[in-house]
Amino acid sequence: MDCIFCKIISGEIPSKKAYEDDKIVAFYDIAPQAPVHIVIIPKEHIESMNGITTENSSVVSHIFEVIPKIAAENNLGDGYRVVSNCGANGGQTVFHLHFHLLGGKALDTTMA
Ligand code: AMP
Ligand code: ZN
Repeated sequence: MDCIFCKIISGEIPSKKAYEDDKIVAFYDIAPQAPVHIVIIPKEHIESMNGITTENSSVVSHIFEVIPKIAAENNLGDGYRVVSNCGANGGQTVFHLHFHLLGGKALDTTMA
């Protein structure tokens, strides 16, 4: 499968990791849109938000349990934003489910 995030998981494409465990990986975005911009992904290939099912959804709650820890380790105590783009109109460019963790400044209040 030609998925760049699966290649990051396997190590075929290098990345700067912010966190890793048996279920998920977090790495620094290659084109950061905020002073801190981390991408958090499940190790299981799920195409997008639309691919979340009863069988695989526990990894999503796991991601959200770990996000505060990653945020704290990256000095985001003043707050942060989590974004998941879904599909073409949602701005998704990599079709492996991921959550953007953005912070390090007061973010724009517009979201669309
Ligand atoms: P999205 O547009 O929501 O699908 O987000 C995909 C994100 O992946 C973008 O913010 C890209 O900058 C980021 N990205 C793409 N390739 C890499 C890579 N090799 N290492 C780190 N981040 C990447
Ligand atoms: Zn993938």
